[in-house]
Amino acid sequence: MTLRAAESWSTQQLADFLALVSSFADEASALRGAIERAAEALDAEVGAIVRGGEVLASIGFPAGTDVAAALARVATAESSCTDLPRLGRCSVVAADLEDDDRGRLLVARLGEATFSREEADLLRSMARVLTLTRRMLQRQAVLERLSGIQRLIVSRATRREVLDAVVQGACGLTGDEVAALRLVDPLDRSSMVVVASKGIGPQRLEEIRRERVGQGAGGRAIAEDTLVVMEGHADAQDALPEYAGRGFEGAMAAPVREDGVVVGSLVVATRRRARTYAPAERDALLALAESASLALTDAKTVDDALHQAFHDSLTGLPNRALLVDRLDQGLKRAQRSRVPLAVLFLDLDRFKMVNDSLGHAAGDELLVSVARRLSACIRPGDTAARFGGDEFAILLEDVAGDGAAERAAMRILYALEAPFQVSGREVFVSASIGIALGHNLADDPIRDADLAMYRAKATGKGRYEVFEPRMHAAVMERVELEADLQHAVERDELLLHYQPMVDLASGEIHAVEALVRWAHPERGLLPPESFIPLAEDTHLMPQLGRWVLEQACRQAARWLRNRPADLQFGVTVNLSGRQLQSPGLLEDVHAALARAGLPPGRLALEITETVLMSDIEATIGKLKELKQLGVALAVDDFGTGYSSLQYLRRFPIDILKIDKAFVDDIDGPDADSTLARAIIDLGESFHLEVVAEGIEREAQRVRLLELGCDLGQGFHFTRPLERPEMDALLAGRRPFAAIQARVA
Ligand code: C2E
Ligand code: MG
Ligand code: MG
Repeated sequence: MTLRAAESWSTQQLADFLALVSSFADEASALRGAIERAAEALDAEVGAIVRGGEVLASIGFPAGTDVAAALARVATAESSCTDLPRLGRCSVVAADLEDDDRGRLLVARLGEATFSREEADLLRSMARVLTLTRRMLQRQAVLERLSGIQRLIVSRATRREVLDAVVQGACGLTGDEVAALRLVDPLDRSSMVVVASKGIGPQRLEEIRRERVGQGAGGRAIAEDTLVVMEGHADAQDALPEYAGRGFEGAMAAPVREDGVVVGSLVVATRRRARTYAPAERDALLALAESASLALTDAKTVDDALHQAFHDSLTGLPNRALLVDRLDQGLKRAQRSRVPLAVLFLDLDRFKMVNDSLGHAAGDELLVSVARRLSACIRPGDTAARFGGDEFAILLEDVAGDGAAERAAMRILYALEAPFQVSGREVFVSASIGIALGHNLADDPIRDADLAMYRAKATGKGRYEVFEPRMHAAVMERVELEADLQHAVERDELLLHYQPMVDLASGEIHAVEALVRWAHPERGLLPPESFIPLAEDTHLMPQLGRWVLEQACRQAARWLRNRPADLQFGVTVNLSGRQLQSPGLLEDVHAALARAGLPPGRLALEITETVLMSDIEATIGKLKELKQLGVALAVDDFGTGYSSLQYLRRFPIDILKIDKAFVDDIDGPDADSTLARAIIDLGESFHLEVVAEGIEREAQRVRLLELGCDLGQGFHFTRPLERPEMDALLAGRRPFAAIQARVA
């Protein structure tokens, strides 16, 4: 065989060998396959791979042979003749596995026929291939471990799971029995704590859980920020002071970092004799430590992200999601302990005003200060959360004892009483609080507390209210009513009642006010208070308002046709706040008048004083446009709001309706007509027509006349009437009997 031929032969053999060895899934089978192929290629009957006195794989030895002992006598020489037990005289050839483990691949031929130089070269090449594939396999194992850990991180496994996978991986890749991950205690940076471990018993773990930074392999890896390798018995005892006397033979530690800063170390240790750490193993540990670093950094990112997801960015308080979370936990505990928890729902009373008048930045500033005061009012285990806007909720756990939640509410109301410094000004706010107690998981204390809060708002603000089941019933009723209201117009369930506006001296009917009613199929005839606010809150108001306008105008036109042209007569229609704001109002009024054929001068629109005052500039504009249509405008419920005279002068109004509250006081033993007189005088000086509402007694009519008020409405004349009754009253063309008698 020429050298060249041998070369090409060996090249082919090597290629096959590589293909074969790398086709095995695990290292043990790969080694066995390698020896078989090597022995076959070199016409040898026997073969083995040895490392550090250990036989990793062998073929051809008779069963029961102590292969290690047999091979111990084989010279380290490349090729020799020797006696092998139970095999006799053999020719042996060996090659180093260049893997730092001082491993050797050797084959032996029975008899004296020695191996050629080419054959020895071929074996050396095979050894190199084997080393290479072993590294590849190891690498692959490392890569698989690492990607497994990466997958855990990406799948948002818990920090615990990831760190456990890291220590598992460290044992798996090095073959060492013990692995531990230690982190520096952030509260005491001179000590480190085991956070994950493998191969350490629970009792032992308790003993070594906390160690000093700088001690042992793990402590040094942290202090020196480098890979620390300790090989040999004495070295290892030093590496693991806590393990002294426990027979450790080797240890290795790699630093673990978080955002680039050393925060801990990953340690492996073994009792395996004469343990040395190959570069591949060192790399593997470093790579694993790197994974742990990533996991920690990522966990921190996840923590940050979690923090953001569960906190309000403005105030830093927990948000609704976190409170709900803690509420669920708390309810479980409450169910076990039978001690209820409480939810306080808090809404600031005048926040919108601050926001509108001082600006959003000031509003934000106020919310931050409120959040701070709330936090100061609660115990460490309780949760104050911001739900958005000016809404806050507070979860109080273990509210043992009667009135504990109420006392907390009082404390909060009191804490909010002191003025707030907001953009250099003193601002006063109050809050309304609803309280609900929770005992078990079926409870929804947040909803209940919210309902109670509305009750507290509706009954005066700056106070608290404890939830009662009937509040829930009231809301359910409202929800049902809301659904029904959707169809009220289509199903023709709305109707108008009419109340005359009477000349107080003559009893003549001056005009009629249209007052809407809802003939609810189950609940009967409903007054406007029970559904107008509902229509206002939903999108139904414009539709409802349009219907009233249409009906009232048409009816007024009909009545007008039957009356002498010279008689003053008109209809008044109430407008809600929403209606006044709605862009279609002018169009609606115009259309209603046109369709009914009612002269605009016969229609007056009533707007409550509170609505007028809510957005003065916009309202003035709107009123001027309405005036241009030719209709009259009335201020309803005058005296109940806070209109300043200055504004009253600017509104293009024609009629002032004195609220019933002022009329109530003008007769009887404690009669006080000061306010009524002031309003009447005011109307006169502004050349407005003044109408008194809610006249119930004759004495009031008389007194109003004395005060200079000429027109009035009230049960004293008649309650609001259904259309046929009103028809009859108008057809009679007679003043009210009660007045007629006196006028005559
Ligand atoms: P309002 O415009 O001030 O109407 C007067 C209310 O006082 C009517 O109540 C009327 O029945 C009642 N009333 C009249 N005289 C007396 C009296 O002598 N004593 C007492 N105790 N009450 C008297 P009603 O019909 O329940 O209407 C309540 C409010 O609902 C109205 O107050 C008005 O603001 C609103 N409203 C009524 N109809 C409509 C409507 O079509 N659209 C809008 N937006 N609001 C309406
Ligand atoms: Mg009215
Ligand atoms: Mg009124």
